[in-house]
Amino acid sequence: MDFLKAKSAPSREDRLKAAIAFGGVCSQIKNCDRARANGCTNLASRKFTQAQGCQFTLSLGMLNSIRNSVVIMHGPVGCGICATGAYGQNKNMKRVRDPNAEGLIWLTTNLDESDVISGGEKKLREAVLYVDKEFRPESIIVANSCVPALIGDDIDNILQDLQTQTAAILVPIHCEGFKTKLMATAYDAVYHGILKKYIRYPDRKIPIWEQEETLQRERFRRSRKVNVLNVGSMSRFDETEFRRILEALGLEVTFIPCYAEPEDFQYALETSLNVSLCGTHDDYFVEHLKTKYKIPFVVDTIPIGRKNTDRWLRRVAAHFGIEKEAENFIAVENQYLDEALEPYREILRAKRVYLLGGEVRIVATAEVIQDLGMEVVGFKAHHYDRFVEPIFEALHDIDDVLFSVATNQPFESSNIISKIKPDILVAHVGGNNIAARHGLPLLPLFGPQFNYCGYSGVFEIARRLAQKLRNSEFNRQISKNVALPFKKEWYEKDPFSYIKPVAMEA
Ligand code: SF4
Repeated sequence: MDFLKAKSAPSREDRLKAAIAFGGVCSQIKNCDRARANGCTNLASRKFTQAQGCQFTLSLGMLNSIRNSVVIMHGPVGCGICATGAYGQNKNMKRVRDPNAEGLIWLTTNLDESDVISGGEKKLREAVLYVDKEFRPESIIVANSCVPALIGDDIDNILQDLQTQTAAILVPIHCEGFKTKLMATAYDAVYHGILKKYIRYPDRKIPIWEQEETLQRERFRRSRKVNVLNVGSMSRFDETEFRRILEALGLEVTFIPCYAEPEDFQYALETSLNVSLCGTHDDYFVEHLKTKYKIPFVVDTIPIGRKNTDRWLRRVAAHFGIEKEAENFIAVENQYLDEALEPYREILRAKRVYLLGGEVRIVATAEVIQDLGMEVVGFKAHHYDRFVEPIFEALHDIDDVLFSVATNQPFESSNIISKIKPDILVAHVGGNNIAARHGLPLLPLFGPQFNYCGYSGVFEIARRLAQKLRNSEFNRQISKNVALPFKKEWYEKDPFSYIKPVAMEA
């Protein structure tokens, strides 16, 4: 894979033939996906669409986390205004890594109607020079939105020209919302900028009087070093769990890209293995690091649920030839987990669960649900691509379970909830509005304050599910007082009435 000569990453509709519209059951989408070359799901769309995602905002989730950096949003002020809501969390998470870290600093070029006529170049130049002088960051990230892309602002050339006048590294990110309906293209857009501007070998100085010994020590250290890739949906508690697991096997762990600082990306090349936590996030990055720097990688399952964590760990251990140590560790962890889960099994048994969110994450979380004796009654994935295939292997009796693909589209979710009547939702952050109006308890699919991954994550999910089921009064009260926003006729219709399928080729 090598897309780095291009200005921006390709959309995932093109690169991965991913899908954003589907309604059926698991066995259908799995078979459909295998026939993806025929366009079975890839080109399906909707006649009516409600509240789709924008890759610009998802890109900001990663970009805003990079330390010692300032983000300039090049576009109208409304693009990325969501960053205001992330300020507190962003600052705290940066300070976990570095107590002296600055909080989030972002600016916008605030393009208006006259800029659409005359171009946004002047405002961008002024903003970059102001940021460099005022804040003295290590890097200035320019996130490009739809407007400058449509009017033809050439941000790469502008930044290249300004690079001789600034101390900061200037990083263009092409994350214009209109270029893709598949929000996860944002991961590629951000990694594209990181690969082009941050990744390079560090300039190391080794004193000659201890060169041989130093080199040998350094070689050994690097032979046990892994980069674990967290694009933001793994919490600090998850990172602590990954560190615990991997250090128990004698490995050294570095987390990138979220909450890293620019310099960390240079040392990221001094590693033996890049370990993805989720294929949907990382394949673009690790494939390029392999093509360009010959660093091997693991992209397989996501370590949520014990079977997925066992599998993930085995894949990492196989690279280092420490399979026996990994098996011993897995056996002990599973034994502890069995004992720890026992008090929750009775509370959770046979409860019906509907999961909504990223494809990989919901299917992996379903493994925890089945492990606890609960029943999976439906999935709604933001999109669908090949990275979910290994995750299905950890599940049983899933073929006839409802599976839909929709980025947001709350009207479909509301219709489905009214039909399948789950006991609880496990849903992406932001999905609680609909759940609450249906009066259902909800466990967020991820969150910066909680642990979901690894062995301790299984316990935490069980503990919190039991807590939500024991007390769901808040959402029940909301449902009594706040009406659902859709007409009752909609609930009599097929939830997938507005999906336009693509006919299979003969
Ligand atoms: S779709 Fe374009 S204009 Fe709308 S928020 Fe996203 S980047 Fe801005």
